[in-house]
Amino acid sequence: MRNQKIVIPASMRAEIIKKIHDGHQGVTKCRERANQSIWWPGLSTEINDFVKRCGHCQERRSTQRKEPLKSTPLPQYPWQKIGCDLCEVKGSTYIVMVDYYSRYIEIAYIRTPTSQSVILKMKDVFARWGVPETVLSDNGPQFASQEFSAFATSAQFIHQTSSPYYPVSNGEAERAVQTAKKIIACEDPFSALQSYRATPIPSIRYSPTQLMMGRQIRTSLPTITSQFVPRWPAPLDVVRNDERAKATYTRDYNKRNGARELRELQPGDKVRVKTATDDKWSNPATVTSRAGYPRSYIVEAENGGVYRRNRQHLLKVPHDNHIDVSTPDVDVSSDEQEAPAMPETSHATRKSSEPKGVARDQPDDKPSAVRRSSRAVVPPKRLDL
Ligand SMILES: [Zn+2]
Repeated sequence: MRNQKIVIPASMRAEIIKKIHDGHQGVTKCRERANQSIWWPGLSTEINDFVKRCGHCQERRSTQRKEPLKSTPLPQYPWQKIGCDLCEVKGSTYIVMVDYYSRYIEIAYIRTPTSQSVILKMKDVFARWGVPETVLSDNGPQFASQEFSAFATSAQFIHQTSSPYYPVSNGEAERAVQTAKKIIACEDPFSALQSYRATPIPSIRYSPTQLMMGRQIRTSLPTITSQFVPRWPAPLDVVRNDERAKATYTRDYNKRNGARELRELQPGDKVRVKTATDDKWSNPATVTSRAGYPRSYIVEAENGGVYRRNRQHLLKVPHDNHIDVSTPDVDVSSDEQEAPAMPETSHATRKSSEPKGVARDQPDDKPSAVRRSSRAVVPPKRLDL
């Protein structure tokens, strides 16, 4: 016994480690589990090594690093494309709608979170602004229902939901929900909403009301009368400001999230291969050489097949017979981490400035033996309120 823990003799350690890793929990959890009842010198390191070498866990590692951010272009006109989402503040449910062009936000209280009440509130708002061409939402039951799909058909809009197999981001709506929640929590939510709508969106430099109605609205802030006379912002100006802001945002995001070059591999490195069509890091292989393209390698699979693979699709794993703690991509500290989440923002969801150093399905992704598609499908982050 040592600090209420059983000291395991060397002969039994291998067996015990296997038991600790039952259920294939990550290093942190395995350590916690061991720590409750057993001990031997070097246990922590041995757990780390064991888990890193577990083939089952390696196969199920999440996709490497975050995908580089791609942003969507601004819609052509106000209220053409909106995102909607439900949120709860102090036990009450609200529907939040946001216009992707103007960032104009509509918030409505919903007595019962059913499809029917959601549809009713949307109809109310559509009476004001017209029917958008596209409505984005998550897969919440109110939006996934038969009723809602019938509503989309009769009102004539396209309903796009975020789903693991069709990664349409609902980012703008999710961000609007954050804004809406702050507004609802204010002492005077109506005044707070009015302020939001009258305040320029920094990236575009026009306010949601200017973009929706071509003029400022009158608030308690002293403003000269001419501001209230309709004068539309030049659409091209709006687009340009938006693009510039998105480009900057995308670059910062990619930097912040490590959407950057992965470590170089050396001949002899052990890897596991996973292209976008594989759901696991199933295929062990050895790097034989660089392929002559940036971030591209020739690997030899265990079955003897030789492939050219992009760095993005190669996960470095420890060599079988030597402890290599510092270099593997298998990051033991973040074993609870899931596949990359969608950016929580906005407009910056698809396409545009791609950072240097992010592996793409360039020529190098064409395998010399088997043809595989390499487009990554990133499961979108679900709104978690
Ligand atoms: Zn495992």
